[in-house]
Amino acid sequence: MTDCLFCKIIAGEIPANIVYQDADCVAFRDINPQAPTHILIIPRLHIPTLNDLESENAGLMGRLVLAAKKIAHAENLSDDGYRLVFNCNADAGQTVFHVHVHLLGGRVFGWPPG
Ligand code: AMP
Ligand code: ZN
Repeated sequence: MTDCLFCKIIAGEIPANIVYQDADCVAFRDINPQAPTHILIIPRLHIPTLNDLESENAGLMGRLVLAAKKIAHAENLSDDGYRLVFNCNADAGQTVFHVHVHLLGGRVFGWPPG
């Protein structure tokens, strides 16, 4: 997807502070962090929103969450806790239309979320 910001980060065309990558996923620090640790984990595959997921993406999405768990551990968040967030479409505030999970940690989060 030539017009996608996150595909350009994967391709190295736009710089990012990459903290982890594997065959399926790339993870980098959010440019506008909402917590002391705020990392985005994205699949290398361009999927615009959660609505576009197919059953064949189940393994990929599972590996995305496992990558988030691994990164949370590396960031020393496992014991205190952290939050994973997927935003889908306008009401949730999705602004980049390439599926991503936010890994947020380093502070206490409220519930319900805003
Ligand atoms: P969402 O609102 O769930 O679509 O999240 C998109 C996230 O991407 C926001 O938290 C932005 O701050 C973040 N973001 C946008 N552009 C960049 C960039 N060039 N590098 C890192 N994060 C970005
Ligand atoms: Zn993309």
